[in-house]
Amino acid sequence: MKRTILVTGGAGFLGSHLCERLVAAGEDVLCLDNFRTGSKDNIRHLLSGPNFELVRHDIWLPIYVEVDRIFNLACPASPVHYSNDPIATTKTAVLGAINMLGLARRRRARILQASTSEVYGDPQQHPQTESYWGHVNPIGPRACYDEGKRCAETLFFDYHRQAAVDIRVIRIFNTYGPRMHPNDGRVVSNFIVQALKGEPITLFGDGGQTRSFCYVDDLIEGMARMMDQDVEVGPINLGNPAEFTIRQLAETVLSLTGSKSRIEFRPLPVDDPLQRQPDIAKARGALGWEPKVGLEDGLKETIGYFKGVLAA
Ligand code: NAD
Ligand code: UDP
Repeated sequence: MKRTILVTGGAGFLGSHLCERLVAAGEDVLCLDNFRTGSKDNIRHLLSGPNFELVRHDIWLPIYVEVDRIFNLACPASPVHYSNDPIATTKTAVLGAINMLGLARRRRARILQASTSEVYGDPQQHPQTESYWGHVNPIGPRACYDEGKRCAETLFFDYHRQAAVDIRVIRIFNTYGPRMHPNDGRVVSNFIVQALKGEPITLFGDGGQTRSFCYVDDLIEGMARMMDQDVEVGPINLGNPAEFTIRQLAETVLSLTGSKSRIEFRPLPVDDPLQRQPDIAKARGALGWEPKVGLEDGLKETIGYFKGVLAA
């Protein structure tokens, strides 16, 4: 029998790539989104297909749909977006998790949560393993997202222990690629768009803070493997362990675009983590997964995408 798969946040950056992959695999896909940060443009090419449906809905409101699997991705992911309406962000993360877990329980559906490296906060353990409990400011401007996602993880494990819901939890580290929104505010899209427009590159702080950047195709492969296996419930880190300073990222983008943009220093946002690098030993062991696309190759693809967007 054919399965129906719900993708919440399916019109967003990661969600649209996931929907595309599931449709190509012949699954019936129900994409749910309220378009807070996503766009119909990301999934327009799927709309006319026989195995793709779109529902405009807010996951903090209950919904009953006949689905067999759920990927719960709905939530703004860029600090600019999640902190400009923090109450909506917490509602999405927490009430959304409750609604989707309730649906999974009623449907006996497997449900995967797109959690985040932000559950580690500004980490004091480096690189971060899944056993690290994190270092999070519960009342700062990032807390709506960090604590919302932490509470969602709590709910996932409580529904698993108390109600035997079949859960999977992945902790995604900074992922980039085509279909990030040009005004998304995240560092890769910001730097590429600024470089292509010849505008100043906005480097926050001294640029010495680090991140580890994973190309979208690698991440979606890891997400699909996590959903498809029957042993590991998580949490499991998915990300590219290659770590770069943000200044190195700026210099790489400038060299790959051939841009003459200058670097403009701006204040470091409050609670901006100083370092971030996933330990992916668990994903290697449980999923046989590791990223394949290096930063330069992934950036070239992403630059090509943004050139098209800016030319349109
Ligand atoms: P995105 O902002 O592009 O996508 C999020 C999608 O969720 C958007 O389409 C948005 O409109 C939708 N959405 C937001 N609130 C909603 C609500 N209340 N009801 C229904 N839909 C809603 O971000 P993304 O990068 O694609 O992230 C997808 C998921 O992955 C998020 O849960 C995010 O926390 C997680 N994640 C992403 C990254 C990353 O680097 N991209 C890192 C860690 C975690
Ligand atoms: N950053 C920057 N310039 C920008 C946007 C972000 O220097 O225009 C920095 C930001 O301060 C952080 C890093 O890049 O240290 C990654 O930021 P992003 O918002 O992409 O994701 P985060 O990992 O902080 O959630």
